Amino acid sequence: MNDLPPLREVIARHGLNASKALGQNFLLDEQLLDRIARVPGNLAGQIVYEVGPGPGGLTRALLRAGAKVVAVERDRRCLPALAEVAAASDGRLELIEGDALAVDEEKSVGRGGHVAANLPYNVGTALLVRWLGGESWPPWWASLTLMFQLEVAERIVARPDTSAYGRLAVLAQWRSTPRIAMKVHRSAFVPPPKVMSAVVHIVPTDAPPGVKAKTLESLTGAAFGQRRKMLRQSLKTLPGALAALETLAIDPTRRAETLQIAEFVAIARAIDGNQRDVSS
Ligand code: SAM
Repeated sequence: MNDLPPLREVIARHGLNASKALGQNFLLDEQLLDRIARVPGNLAGQIVYEVGPGPGGLTRALLRAGAKVVAVERDRRCLPALAEVAAASDGRLELIEGDALAVDEEKSVGRGGHVAANLPYNVGTALLVRWLGGESWPPWWASLTLMFQLEVAERIVARPDTSAYGRLAVLAQWRSTPRIAMKVHRSAFVPPPKVMSAVVHIVPTDAPPGVKAKTLESLTGAAFGQRRKMLRQSLKTLPGALAALETLAIDPTRRAETLQIAEFVAIARAIDGNQRDVSS
């Protein structure tokens, strides 16, 4: 791995000028990349699913940390550069060419793998919502280490009664623990994006019993879709929601952003007709 040429040289030799359409902002600082690769903990012998390796900076750092990496990249121009990394990896790098949104991860990576990615905003959020969703829990992944715009990272870890608190916070916190592991200055990227970024680390926890992820998704979608409105208005069209508020003695004149995550969980459970106490 140490014999690989510097990333700048790789980018120049393979003509990997950053494509705006693919949301390409590359990280070239090896020390920073090693710090990101340490966020999930000791990766020696672990499997990491990397989405969007680009020229391979984070991929190299993950391999330096001792991981076996399965990487999916959509931009074919990056594949020859990544093949050079694979050749130096003692068989520890497997490349998949294609769209991460179409990959069956459990099939390609197996259960217990860690996820690491520095992705464009829209793809990153879509994948995050998918990884946090699903009725089967614990999920196939052991941890997520994801670069986001700082503003999105703050929404993921937000607490109730703050302007950043919303659907993403509830979906990320009801059966997982997210934290901002590090902030990354825009100048660390080539080319630099307009905004600051942050690496978010998420690990799954036990899921509260008797709650369907789908119900919680519809509930948070409705509640925060009209976040300035009272719950009795925003939840009006969601079947069973107003009855659930009544059963749980939750004041329908409250607004979504005042509800604790345990209250969203209790409402979703009550909607599914499996009513329990808010504090359970
Ligand atoms: N990981 C590299 C780094 O940190 O320097 C590249 C990061 S760049 C922000 C995002 C990468 O994701 C690009 O290489 C881009 O081609 C790739 N990408 C964008 N959309 C993708 C998708 N749907 N599936 C797989 N890769 C994608």
